[in-house]
Amino acid sequence: MTASATPKLAEIPSLDAARAFAAQRHQLYVGGSWVDALEGETFATHDPATGDKLADVAKAGERDVDRAVEAARGAMNDPAWIDMKPAARARLLERLADALESSVDEFAALETLDNGKPVRDARNFDLPHAIGTLRYNSGWATKLNGETISLSGPGTWHAYTLKQPVGVVAQIVPWNAPLAMAVSKIAPALAAGCAVILKPAEETPLTALRLARLIEEIGFPPGVFNLLTGFGETAGAALTTHPGVEKVTFTGSTEVGRLILRAAGGNFKRVTLELGGKTPVIIMPDADVTKAIPGAAMSIFANAGQICNAGSRLFVHERHFDEVVEGVSKIAQGLKIGPGLASDTQMGPVISPTQRDRIHGYIRHGVEEGANLHTGGHEIGGAGNFVPPTVLTRTTADMAVRREEIFGPVLCAMSFSDEDLDRIAAEANDSDYGLGAVVWTNNLSAAHQLARKLKAGTVRVNGGGLDPALPFGGFKQSGWGRENGREGIEAYTETKAVAMAL
Ligand code: ADP
Repeated sequence: MTASATPKLAEIPSLDAARAFAAQRHQLYVGGSWVDALEGETFATHDPATGDKLADVAKAGERDVDRAVEAARGAMNDPAWIDMKPAARARLLERLADALESSVDEFAALETLDNGKPVRDARNFDLPHAIGTLRYNSGWATKLNGETISLSGPGTWHAYTLKQPVGVVAQIVPWNAPLAMAVSKIAPALAAGCAVILKPAEETPLTALRLARLIEEIGFPPGVFNLLTGFGETAGAALTTHPGVEKVTFTGSTEVGRLILRAAGGNFKRVTLELGGKTPVIIMPDADVTKAIPGAAMSIFANAGQICNAGSRLFVHERHFDEVVEGVSKIAQGLKIGPGLASDTQMGPVISPTQRDRIHGYIRHGVEEGANLHTGGHEIGGAGNFVPPTVLTRTTADMAVRREEIFGPVLCAMSFSDEDLDRIAAEANDSDYGLGAVVWTNNLSAAHQLARKLKAGTVRVNGGGLDPALPFGGFKQSGWGRENGREGIEAYTETKAVAMAL
């Protein structure tokens, strides 16, 4: 099987504009100016559907990090930013949302070129999520209040707390949803009044570069937003150790999260980490399987499984096991795999040849260990990093396919006969990760009890997706802290207590 070699290109609005943008010269954005990397280095970004080079972008090194930190520190001393009224910060974010909305097709096409995802997914998920996140957080700028506190010590006191911006924040994002991830980092940070240095993933720098142009046009004070394109081990690592950075927020692998945690300890940076997952999807005996089957399939196959919260472990009550596995497999077999720019593509390539080979390695290893390859698993020839949606059965809890984050369209399906909620939860909780969990049931009591018992940052019952108002983050090795919602923006503030003797 090969992915369609000569795809029919969808009539993609603004594809030419996206290609023209990609072809431009790409510099770093530091202190309100576009500059080359100080060492003059660049690196290439590629189209994952063809392997073709899309663009050369500036490769930031340590000295560029110094320069960006200095610019951000300058902004945190600039009255134009630190004394800006909350309503004015809110307006800047609203204007950025408006600007993004008016270029939505170009951003979607650019995201597909660089990341490979189906353009309709970029258009219908990534862009609305980014725009919604900007609008949601713009609302918080005027609502970050402390509280008055009653003290019990001798004397008469007026005591209260202030929520103040944490300062200079380094924001390191991955390649699976490049724009949506970048915006979910910068929107709360800017709403809270911080200055940011954004480092997109080396695989997908283009939408962040385009976003920086919008930020430039909108007129944030210089140094409030800085963009460093570059590699994790160099620019990323330098940001995480830099003494001038007060907070690091990171989304990516648990392995890199661990490195960042260590690196950030030097000056006790605040750290928010959104790391890996091995999300369990539980289908209870009373569930509506007509909804649970497509729900379970999309939970693992959307974005070719490259979602930290992908539902990669499926636990189905034995009453429905065969029907669900057949149903999910049928959906898998029917998904049209191809370049994200082709009109009929439902699943695009994975990000890189390395990632494709890694996913196939997991599948092979699982089968060698005794798993049954129910659907998929085959190599897809031709150009591009395509992996078929894959369903494994007869796995055991100690297999790597069950324990490790594969970050690809690979599902392990298991049955259970139990109705004991403690045992169901224990099986689902048997993981180093604890990012998300999904339950399909119409039994209200079981739903709420499982929601309490599951060790996961987000529990979804009968469907649902990301929302900028819903706190997101993980238990256990899935991370530290929460993004989104009130917790998300408060994580960009320090609480200051003020006590005045009256
Ligand atoms: P993935 O495994 O999903 O590719 P990574 O966790 O490797 O994701 O990378 C996510 C982001 O982290 C990227 O922007 C990458 O450049 C950055 N990164 C990788 N290694 C480091 C590091 N040692 N320090 C800081 N950032 C890093």
